[in-house]
Amino acid sequence: MQITVSSGKGGVGKSSITASLLYLFGKENDLIAVDADADTPNLDILLNVKDWEGEESLSGERVAVIDGDRCNGCGLCARHCPYECIERDGKVYRVNEVLCEGCNVCSIVCPHDFVISFKETIPGVIRWGKTDYDFEFVSAQLFPGRPNSGKLVFKAKKLAQSFNKDLMVVDAAAGIGCSVVASVNGSDLVVVVVEPTEVSLSDAGRLVKVLDHFGVRRVGVVNKFDINSDFMPVVEGFFKGVKADIVGYVPYDKNVVNAMLQGKPAVEIFPESLFSTAIKEIYENLKNFV
Ligand code: SF4
Ligand code: SF4
Repeated sequence: MQITVSSGKGGVGKSSITASLLYLFGKENDLIAVDADADTPNLDILLNVKDWEGEESLSGERVAVIDGDRCNGCGLCARHCPYECIERDGKVYRVNEVLCEGCNVCSIVCPHDFVISFKETIPGVIRWGKTDYDFEFVSAQLFPGRPNSGKLVFKAKKLAQSFNKDLMVVDAAAGIGCSVVASVNGSDLVVVVVEPTEVSLSDAGRLVKVLDHFGVRRVGVVNKFDINSDFMPVVEGFFKGVKADIVGYVPYDKNVVNAMLQGKPAVEIFPESLFSTAIKEIYENLKNFV
């Protein structure tokens, strides 16, 4: 079974909630966790993965390279590059490798042979290891400026599946980009985390459209519900409208910040806190789906 935690909007506290839920799931389940926030993976810090047991690169990407000794500086390639990533460099031109998508247009329009070639790049890596809490963990990490976060997450999930665990919990990125699509596709349940603000609901609404596309079942969690209680009827109306039961209301609790500072799941070091009590309730509710 695959459960994915996602939010639409970033900064709503998804990672804190996920880390604490994983702590609880890991105690009673044959679990593997996947950090699919490939742009900014950091769950390994909260779950204390000290030693990575393995690493695999995502290959197959390529970028253009201009041979400065052969280029005559005509500028045709720069004028035709759809991604505007070819820049003048003195009398010749050069490719900004961070922006290049490897589309081949430049080499087609270049009037000379052997000026533009292509080289392989590695857009990201997948690493795996064990957390301090004795469950397996896979992390997808995209390198700066590289495309294909979706492919990377897809590969990370495939790798996680090969561990043959009963339960996979995926921490998805914010937004509705390729990595989120790869995260939610194939999920049995998506936990949509929101905070009680218009912006959060707007982004969650966009996420729900992706879930609708894949026909994925969803439930809701409202984080820091007490910072804007007047807005809660709107939040509840939102989840009713998208056919999602709310499985938990998490109060604002400064122990979450203290737990972050210590790099631990809050439910481990502040088990009696308001936050942890709410997380335990969410965990009990989610158990009904496992
Ligand atoms: S391969 Fe495409 S994106 Fe890259 S430099 Fe050439 S035209 Fe631009
Ligand atoms: S089209 Fe070819 S020769 Fe002209 S600037 Fe580009 S790489 Fe140089």
